[in-house]
Amino acid sequence: MDARHLTHGLQVAFHETGLTYPNGTVALEDVTLPVREGEFVAIVGPSGCGKSTLLRLAAGLERPTTGSVAVGTRSVGFIFQEATLLPWASVRRNVGLLTDLARLPKAVRRQRVDHAVEAVGLGGFGDHLPRALSGGMRMRVSLARALALQPEVMLLDEPFGALDELTRQEMQLQLLDLYDREGFTALFVTHSVSEAVLLADRVVVMAPRPGRVRAVVDIDIPRPRGPELRFDPAYVAQVQAVSELLRGEQ
Ligand code: ADP
Repeated sequence: MDARHLTHGLQVAFHETGLTYPNGTVALEDVTLPVREGEFVAIVGPSGCGKSTLLRLAAGLERPTTGSVAVGTRSVGFIFQEATLLPWASVRRNVGLLTDLARLPKAVRRQRVDHAVEAVGLGGFGDHLPRALSGGMRMRVSLARALALQPEVMLLDEPFGALDELTRQEMQLQLLDLYDREGFTALFVTHSVSEAVLLADRVVVMAPRPGRVRAVVDIDIPRPRGPELRFDPAYVAQVQAVSELLRGEQ
């Protein structure tokens, strides 16, 4: 990690970052992307443009082959498209899984699990097993499991990609609410432009082969944001603008 680029107020800094996988695939080239503390950044782009690779770099799961990646905290949560729950463990056990590893006092762990389960709207389902839950509820458990660590940075890789449209919209509103209340920094990968604009303060549009940043769009829509936004002309115009940037490169 090269902390030089983590200047005041930044939580994540990609600086001239490149990553070439050992098989020669150039996944990312010259990505410079500063992310402010508490900012919500969405990343959109076609398959293969390096979105997941960016998150894996931020999580420390990959190292850049050129340039640097700096993250200002060790407290990082990662959420994937699959909820990846233990099938034999209750909702509460699943939510507490990572805090159990964090060697916190038992009372603190219990309090964090309670808070996280309530925060995602699963109060009353704590003793249920994953198979008794819908896809949306399983994703809520996955969100709660990350939240229980009280992460300063939340990395989300297409978390709602496998959900039906209605559930997906519910989860977007749930995430907006969690973001407003918990105040983490978010890096959110999605294929959906409307989802990116709804959630983010800035949308990064990426281009493929090699993966690079094509454009960064500021989303000047005040928070809190609610479902009525979907019909707001300012929102619709931003979705159109980002869609055009995305189409321009394909
Ligand atoms: P996205 O998330 O935008 O779909 P990825 O970051 O998953 O893109 O992948 C970027 C490029 O790197 C793709 O061409 C992909 O095939 C390639 N890639 C991803 N992971 C590996 C890996 N472990 N080894 C080799 N190539 C990889």
